[in-house]
Amino acid sequence: IPPPTDAPIRMRSSDLSSISKDERAQLLKRPVLKSDEMIAKVKPIVEAVRTRGDTALLELTAKFDKAPLSTPILRPPFSAQSMVIPDDVRNAIDIAYSNIRKFHAAQVDSAPLAIETTPGVVCSRFARPIARVGLYVPGGTAILPSTALMLGIPAQVAGCKEIVLATPPRPDGSVSPEVMYVAKLVGASAVLKAGGAQAVAALAYGTETVPKVDKIFGPGNQWVTAAKMLVQNDTDALVSIDMPAGPSEVLVIADRTANPAFVAADLLSQAEHGVDSQVVLVAVNLTSEHLASIELEVDKQANALSRVDIVRESIRKSIIVKASSVDEGVQFSNDYAPEHLILHIEKAKEIIPAITNAGSVFVGPFTPESCGDYASGTNHTLPTNGYARQFSGVNTQSFQKHITSQEISEAGLKELGPVVATLADCEGLQAHANAVRIRLKALETQP
Ligand code: NAD
Repeated sequence: IPPPTDAPIRMRSSDLSSISKDERAQLLKRPVLKSDEMIAKVKPIVEAVRTRGDTALLELTAKFDKAPLSTPILRPPFSAQSMVIPDDVRNAIDIAYSNIRKFHAAQVDSAPLAIETTPGVVCSRFARPIARVGLYVPGGTAILPSTALMLGIPAQVAGCKEIVLATPPRPDGSVSPEVMYVAKLVGASAVLKAGGAQAVAALAYGTETVPKVDKIFGPGNQWVTAAKMLVQNDTDALVSIDMPAGPSEVLVIADRTANPAFVAADLLSQAEHGVDSQVVLVAVNLTSEHLASIELEVDKQANALSRVDIVRESIRKSIIVKASSVDEGVQFSNDYAPEHLILHIEKAKEIIPAITNAGSVFVGPFTPESCGDYASGTNHTLPTNGYARQFSGVNTQSFQKHITSQEISEAGLKELGPVVATLADCEGLQAHANAVRIRLKALETQP
């Protein structure tokens, strides 16, 4: 972060009606993630934990988190002492837990699907929880009980048996009591006191004390992200991850009905995440006075924030995109595929059918992103970097997998068998064809 200056905190501006195709494409881009470089850096850490288990994990935790531990793992029941938090915070966590649980419990896929595709041929699909999951809750620079809720609740309602919540310990070796309280609420079967690449490696391979998991979830810094990418490609680890992660981002679409103070507050609530945060304002037919009042609010509100130095950097890299209609603004947003999309426009709800790419949408002037970040019920672990084109945010089904099955009667095989044998012959797979013909023959000779 460069030293503070008195210069106004302002975003750059572009007008969709006057820029070239290449310039528009440039606006849609995010900063390049140097993933190869980071993967090379985390490799020795991951390898150390894979080969030397707890010994390496404890050494790395002492080195990077300055926490000398005798064991990296806590098992329930967690001590009451480890969860002492103020009453108002406990109440807020309880309310958030209840809302997030309601929304995620409703997503459990519990009804098997069964379809008869041909008479006597029944195909079905049913869901099962992923047995063992690892939830990474960042803890380097802030305590994040909200992330513990967002990952722990869907794991709990999906019915995952082993829920290992990993977070870097504080220098005294403890975990923040807020995170411990959430670990208890979500029924975590273990808390792993480790952070960064070493925590991801311990979850992926297991150690003497840390259970190996089947899928790793959660945001984190570049060490965490690179380690997740590395282990998911290792067939020895046999582990998957939730999604690729990048810096957090928001796109706000505002029209003449938008309240400048609300728009500025929403832009800043994202900009304060980190210097890499992406903030985009799509201004639909705003007068220059209206736009100026939003910019003034951004500067005024930013200067009153304790994280103003971070905001100055992230806002400097952020953009205002002028659009001449809501349709043009929504089209730009769909192409950008933002993690968070906030609609400060008239009849915001009516535009939802036109939205094709976004992690989570915030509809109307009284729906700040912060509510989704903490407590409305939706999940805050969302696709960044344009991945909203093909990824959903974390949801209950991220913790389930589907199994299909089929049952075919004799009549069904008589009907379907010749089709399958023809296709198997066509592909030259004789044994496949035989598996059908041998049965068809048996049926023919049956009394
Ligand atoms: P973190 O827990 O992700 O990382 C801390 C760990 O990084 C440490 O335990 C250490 O092991 C490792 N580390 C740090 N420096 C290292 C080095 N030089 N060499 C090896 N390992 C090193 O916590 P953080 O650093 O505070 O980062 C949190 C990140 O999570 C931020 O980038 C934040 O934006 C992101 N985040 C995203 C969301 C979301 O939903 N998108 C939510 C919360 C946080």
